[in-house]
Formats: sequence, C-alpha cells, structure tokens
Amino acid sequence: MQNPDYILLTPGPLTTTNRTKEAMLKDWGSWDRDFNNITAHIRSLLLSIIEGKEDYVVVPMQGSGTFSVEATIQSVMPKDGHILVLDNGAYCKRMATLTQKMGKKVTLLSFNEREAVNPSKVNQALLDDPSITHVGMIHCETGTGIINPLEEISTLCQKHDVGLIVDAMSSFGALPISAKNIQFDALISASGKCLESVPGAGFVFLRRAILTSMENNSTSLSLDLYDQYQYMEKTGQWRFTPPTHVIAALYEALLQFIDEGGQKKRLARYEENCKTLVNGLSVLGLKTFLEPTAISPIIVTFLAPESEHYQFKEFYEKVKQQGYILYPGKLTEVETFRVGCIGAIDKQNMQDVVSCMTSVLAQMNIL
Ligand SMILES: *Cc1c(COP(=O)(O)O)cnc(C)c1O
Repeated sequence: MQNPDYILLTPGPLTTTNRTKEAMLKDWGSWDRDFNNITAHIRSLLLSIIEGKEDYVVVPMQGSGTFSVEATIQSVMPKDGHILVLDNGAYCKRMATLTQKMGKKVTLLSFNEREAVNPSKVNQALLDDPSITHVGMIHCETGTGIINPLEEISTLCQKHDVGLIVDAMSSFGALPISAKNIQFDALISASGKCLESVPGAGFVFLRRAILTSMENNSTSLSLDLYDQYQYMEKTGQWRFTPPTHVIAALYEALLQFIDEGGQKKRLARYEENCKTLVNGLSVLGLKTFLEPTAISPIIVTFLAPESEHYQFKEFYEKVKQQGYILYPGKLTEVETFRVGCIGAIDKQNMQDVVSCMTSVLAQMNIL
C-alpha cells in the first residue's frame, strides 16, 4: 500500500493504490465492445456484493456522488410524491435541498447530530402523515461519521408500504448490506469511497419491481436513471459520454476489493485504522465528537483541542507538510476536524499519522 504522494485522510477522494491509478493510463472508445465489457463486468460485480442479482439491477451514473443522489430522487420519486428525509447531518440536509430544488415535496425529520435516527419516531411520522410515499436516509452520515439503522428503517418502510431511498455513499463496500435481509427501492454509492477508486461515477441499485413505475418521473434529461438503464440494457453503452478512465479504474479497484477478501476484510482493515487513530489521539487528549460506542470505522470527527494556540488552518498545513491531508469539520455548533479511515491505507499509516499529529501539536504548543 505504498503511496509516494500525499496520504488522503478524507472520505473521497481518497488514497488509491498504484494499480488503480495505472488502470487510467489507457484510452477507451466509449462505444467500443472492450469498454462495454468493463461496464458489464462492473455491474455484475456490484450486484454480487449486495447479493441482489435476482431482485435488483444496478445503473452507473456520471458525476460525483451527489449527481447520483439527485438522479435517484428524480427518477424514483413520482412528480407528486412526498419524501420524508431522516436528518442527522449535512448529507441528509443535502438530500432534502436537492429534492426541494427539483420541485418535489420533502419533509425533514430532524434528530440530534450526535445520535442515530430513531426508528420509533420515524414510525410515528409515517403514521401521522399518510401522504408520505418515500423515506430518504443516509446510511453513514459522513458529516459526523454516525451510522443509521438501515435494517430497522427498511422494515418500517415495508410495514408502511413506502419506498426507501438509501444514500450508502460512504458505507457501501465496508459495512454489510445484503439485499437478502434489507429491502430498498434505491441504494446509492460512488466510485471514490469504500471501493477505493477515483471519483467521477456513481451507481444506483434499483429494485426491479419499481423499474416500470420510474418511466416518466424525471424532470431532468441527464439525470434520468430510467433512461440510462433502458439504454444500457439495449446497447451495453452509457447514454452520454462515460467517464471511461474512471470506469477502468473502478474495475481494477473492484478486482482488488475481491482479492482483499471483500466487504468483511475491508471493514476489518478500516476498524483497525479507526482503532489505531482514536486510541493514538486519545493519548494526546483529543476527544471524539461522538460517544465512543457510536464512532464508525469510516470517518472520525474530533473536537478541536481546547487551546488558544489551536487554529485548524495551521494544524492542517503542518500536517500536510508531513504528507497527510486532513478534512475540516462540517458542524456549525462546535469546532471539529475529521479524519477518514477509508482508502488504501492501513494500520501502519495510521500509526504514522498519530506520530505526525503528536509532533505538530507539540510544535504548536498545544501538548
Ligand atoms: C461523499 C458523499 C456524498 C456525495 O458527495 P459528492 O461530493 O457529490 O461526492 C453523498 N452522501 C454521503 C453520505 C457522502 O459521504
């Protein structure tokens, strides 16, 4: 896992292997059979990760993860639908904002940012408002790192007969998600998160049973997942110019995901990264924003040191000089910084990060 460049401790883009980067050294014709084969392979591998070959399809989409979230809401929700977005952080709010912008009805059900969403409150909200047609949730809210109870919410949605749209952007590939025990209408992730490839494409798992109902939902041409799906099924090609190099890299990253041992092994490595980081920084007196039991192995939010000498910008620059890229906090009420545990990094890298932060904080007269 050597990387002569910066180590990115960010939740995408993240550190990739040389093998993944090298997959981008070739050009591909977007209509050519060789490239279409790569797309087909990727779709088949993705479906096997969620054990969903029978009941689900997967549709790749150009753009960053948000483009796929927007395409999903556009295409899965009817124009007169009503989505209840479960909100405990920044990415939840983004899902609500993009829904509102396209003129579809959204209600935000807000929770404390330090806590997972509460299924009994969701149940009550669904009882109170029968006009709700969909629930939108974020599996791992990357703004803090908190993990929301996907399986419980899925069960509730089935009970109330409403659709479930899951942003599993930063959890897919690391946390277990199986279509055998979790039903959803759509589940979204992207190339540059736990599959450890470069950013530039998303993909959406869609339940076969809802496909025909999606036909006229989208008010956007480029973000129409139904059209993208139909075209891809018919021709094997993407509807508009595909991010060819990104897809070639994603294929190579998926092969490495399988070589590593799939989701379980990837999660184990991230858990090790997370433990090394949290334990190492706690020795320095740095506290996590979430309760220790709520911390996820995806990304950890730390409270800024309580010192008049601390400034994120200086801390960031000094850590960067030693080769690491941190991530700013995304909370308004308290000052924090975030450290991603995902990417082609391991325990040794995390030990080095802790040593680096130790020397930087000492330099800044904080330790
Ligand atoms: C990364 C991420 C997204 C997508 O963000 P982009 O900046 O568009 O890539 C959406 N939701 C979650 C939870 C994420 O972690």
